[in-house]
Amino acid sequence: MKATPLQQQELLRLQALDTKVLQVAHQTTSLPQHAEVLSLKREADAVRARMTTEGGALGDVRTELGRIESDVGVVEKRIARDTERVQSTSSIKDVQALETELTSLRKRLFDLEEIEIAVMERLEQHEASVAVVVRERDAVAERMIAAETGRDELLADLERQIGELRRDRLTVAGTIDGELVTLYEKRLVTGRGNAAALLRARTCSGCTMTLTGSDLAEVRQAAANEVIFCPDCGAILVRTEESGI
Ligand SMILES: [Zn+2]
Repeated sequence: MKATPLQQQELLRLQALDTKVLQVAHQTTSLPQHAEVLSLKREADAVRARMTTEGGALGDVRTELGRIESDVGVVEKRIARDTERVQSTSSIKDVQALETELTSLRKRLFDLEEIEIAVMERLEQHEASVAVVVRERDAVAERMIAAETGRDELLADLERQIGELRRDRLTVAGTIDGELVTLYEKRLVTGRGNAAALLRARTCSGCTMTLTGSDLAEVRQAAANEVIFCPDCGAILVRTEESGI
């Protein structure tokens, strides 16, 4: 097809903008902040798993303590009841039996209180462990907010850049003949790399192939308003005074 040299050169501006859009789009997916957020999510999962384990262990110890406290209560009530009976009975035999039971109940109460103290100590240790995990969880959550905020700010900036580039592209495309733009866009989709490339010093700036022999002769013979293509990469080859032909 035919197009004025100026129109062909406009394709280079279009190509520069399209390349820039691709670069910025690539930046959005390769931000180091994505990896940071992912790694923090893994940390948060690990902390959550530890929270489940530590919280479960703390719950078990609380249940154990509750059981002992209830046992203590039962024994205390029986001691109170037996003590009252000792005072109110006149039978020596009953008093002896009650005293024997009271001795064994006091021994049982002493043992239970010993166990209670030990369980309370363990409870404190478990509470301390849970507090450590809570602090870690909060710290990870805080870092996550910072990382996500940082990432979102960068993404918003990159998206703004892409928006500006697309607007510029629309403006440039509007100045080029429709058929030429269509031809360019077809090559952009099917071609590898550039759809339009400057021929500089007989070299295609798209694929860096240097024209020689019959390829060079063909390009030299082509009229300035003839759209020509790189024999290697298929890009629309744009000639300027830099082309060296
Ligand atoms: Zn080429």
